[in-house]
Amino acid sequence: MNTTTHLLYLGTAICFVLGLHLMNSPATARRGNQLSAFGMAVAIVLTVVVLIDDGIITATAAVVLAVGAAAGAGAGLVAARRVKMTAMPQLVSLFNAVGGGAAALIAFADALPESVDQPVSTTLTIFLDVLIGAVTFSGSLIAAGKLAGVVPGRPLTFAGARPLNLLLALTALVAGILYTTGVGGLGTLGLLTGAALVVGVLMTLPIGGADMPVVISLLNACTGTAVAMAGFVIGSTPLIIAGALVGAAGGILTKLMAVAMNRSLLNIIAGGFGTGDEQGSPAVAATGTVRTVTADDAALQLAYAGKVVIVPGYGLAAAQAQHEVVELAQALTSHGVDVSYGIHPVAGRMPGHMNVLLAEANAPYPQLKDLDEINPQFAATDVVLVVGANDVTNPAARRPGNAVSGMPILDVDKARSVIVVKRSLGHGYAGIDNELYTNPRTAMLFGDAKVALTSLVNELKAYVR
Ligand code: NDP
Repeated sequence: MNTTTHLLYLGTAICFVLGLHLMNSPATARRGNQLSAFGMAVAIVLTVVVLIDDGIITATAAVVLAVGAAAGAGAGLVAARRVKMTAMPQLVSLFNAVGGGAAALIAFADALPESVDQPVSTTLTIFLDVLIGAVTFSGSLIAAGKLAGVVPGRPLTFAGARPLNLLLALTALVAGILYTTGVGGLGTLGLLTGAALVVGVLMTLPIGGADMPVVISLLNACTGTAVAMAGFVIGSTPLIIAGALVGAAGGILTKLMAVAMNRSLLNIIAGGFGTGDEQGSPAVAATGTVRTVTADDAALQLAYAGKVVIVPGYGLAAAQAQHEVVELAQALTSHGVDVSYGIHPVAGRMPGHMNVLLAEANAPYPQLKDLDEINPQFAATDVVLVVGANDVTNPAARRPGNAVSGMPILDVDKARSVIVVKRSLGHGYAGIDNELYTNPRTAMLFGDAKVALTSLVNELKAYVR
């Protein structure tokens, strides 16, 4: 049984690794997800079989496990099926919180029989698990609240917040060391948990502007690390492997996001937390005339263009207009227009948001170009169609002193002409004016993205066969 169990656990680990590898490309990502889910299902069933086989599970524990698993799986299934695409980021953040919290609870369960003498290797992993798990739990809840608009999205801070956070972090560290070395007991672990929970809140509240993506992926990496620690605490190989994979993948994503936002990782971890230089620095108000265009004129421009770049943003997700934008792109492509999509790494409200949306509508993958690939092409582009994107196109990012300073942007203002589809001159996530809208080359097509794109597709029929 032991060898078979280990071999099967190895098989589940292979599923996780291969699943992650398949997620490298949008074309295989769905299969990757299914393979990883299959591996996890096998790991769960196997763990139950091992528990029964070892005879270490009581009838009450079996009932509690079954009820807990059914309730958790049911809630997850309902949430995942009902969630709107636009609410996905806050759901991911909630899942991060649940993962971190569960990992911390596992450590607590192992620490509970206080009479049992634990070796330092166990108390150390319990300390790290509780610390990372608790910070992730409260930090992710605040992040989810910010994304859902329940907690204000702007940086929330107060005088003395940083010294207080440092003091709490030190308290957590000292409590952890005391617990690890056996000087402190469960009370010390409780103190560590309380301090870590408040650190998570105080660390996430000051994040605002355009910096949430980095924090979300950092918290995701923390969830993975906490789960891996929980695996060490209870000696579970699948937990260690799955946690380590999530931790490592989240860590790499955090680094990529930090580069995309032009923030140093050290600055984020050391408490700058990507507040950048935006705090209190008012946006440079857009001055100048705003030009508008009708759907008919916009369709005419698109039909007679040689090269068109479509830049999707959060508004496309909000309007659920991915099918309409792909329909428009297809009509232009079959008319002989060279069409591509310019994808900014933080467009939307979660990493990869635009790729997921466009993949759902079957946009051809070769047409999806990332920031580095598309930026040099804008100067040779006839028309850029910006659909519901705002911050990721704001030329103000090239200047210091505002909420998007330093963020690499899509250089759409270098194209011959720009058409922006959105409902108003309203702000994006960073809450500042977009100077692109008063650029003489820009024309605004005001309206909901779905409605505007449907009109564009209809008007285009007059010009393309
Ligand atoms: P923005 O948030 O900058 O702007 C979105 C725009 O969409 C708004 O200005 C809004 O204008 C418009 N919009 C909203 N609803 C509709 C609709 N139904 N139809 C048409 N337009 C609509 O989006 P971007 O994608 O450009 O930038 C993403 C921002 O979010 C960045 O600042 C990024 O840092 C941040 N962020 C990204 C995360 C990620 O992981 N990707 C996570 C958290 C934050 P109007 O109201 O006038 O229509």
